[in-house]
Amino acid sequence: MGKKKSGPFSGQHIVSKSSAATNFPTFFLIKRISTCNETFHSVSPFLVERAITGSVGDVKSTKKLRSGDLLVEVQSRKQSEQIVKLKTFSNILVTVSPHATLNSSKGVITCGELLNVPTEEILKELQGQGVSHVRRISIRRDGQLLNTKHIILTFDSAKLPENIKAGYMRLSVRTYIPNPLRCFKCQRFGHSKTSCRGTLACARCAEVGHESTDCTRTEKCVNCKGEHTSFSRNCIAWKREKEIITTKIKKQISYPEARKLVNSQTLTPGNSYVSVAKKSFSAPSVQQNPDASAVACSKPSDSTAKASPPITNLPVPCSPSVAPVSEEALASPDFNDFQLVRNKKG
Ligand SMILES: [Zn+2]
Ligand SMILES: [Zn+2]
Ligand SMILES: [Zn+2]
Repeated sequence: MGKKKSGPFSGQHIVSKSSAATNFPTFFLIKRISTCNETFHSVSPFLVERAITGSVGDVKSTKKLRSGDLLVEVQSRKQSEQIVKLKTFSNILVTVSPHATLNSSKGVITCGELLNVPTEEILKELQGQGVSHVRRISIRRDGQLLNTKHIILTFDSAKLPENIKAGYMRLSVRTYIPNPLRCFKCQRFGHSKTSCRGTLACARCAEVGHESTDCTRTEKCVNCKGEHTSFSRNCIAWKREKEIITTKIKKQISYPEARKLVNSQTLTPGNSYVSVAKKSFSAPSVQQNPDASAVACSKPSDSTAKASPPITNLPVPCSPSVAPVSEEALASPDFNDFQLVRNKKG
């Protein structure tokens, strides 16, 4: 068993300087400097295009965000270095900064040999490969926080490497897909209870005005109106939400873009990410910041959720393919004896 001492938030400091010589930011946010909140909503697209290409050349893409700021993806290190120096678009004052999250990516490695290695040390050892942050997935069981051999690595590049070297071991890196965030107050997705502007709805029967704790009424889902609780993993709305998050990460696009894409596609069984996710397993919903370390296995309001459906297929650590993996899967109670079930293929 892991040393209890290294708690969930140990090794949480972020080392911002990149030691990987090949990595440079490719996504940049361009904001207007304005005293009266002017944005690019009111700026001619010709002017914007000319200002960008005129100073750094043709870029990979330029998009206007809903905020009215511009998101520019450059295609070379030279452009990356040039674009941050921009101060004006014609006579418009601007600031240019690397995008906070798009220039990094998260992946999961699984390694029993690293179970007792402190995350600080893992970070130090892997920094040279572009790792900027290390977080171990821990699970809560009987009130105790237990380490697992699954580790989330943040890389300082938009593209996730297929594998990394940890000492003499080569470990495959799987895409880290956080679970949809469901509000424990209104039961909707995409925000948490603390920032909820909706009304209290029962997670069991979908009626407004009471909590699910003592509710014995017929199950009904707030999000899809189906005959299940709002925390059910059989919920079509949950699956869709998961698909949107997966698409967002895989394609590195914004949430609204990903939602549009997913909604425009008909979900075909067999090729959606959801079907991949289904092949692993699920646990009760966990309300948390995707970056919070501890994975609680149940919440009071969700305690009626089934904890462990059968596992049919697990991500294989030595598999050459980089399959998406979700934290709930890795932190499932089924996993907490740290026995890794390997499937035979590959
Ligand atoms: Zn809410
Ligand atoms: Zn109810
Ligand atoms: Zn539903």
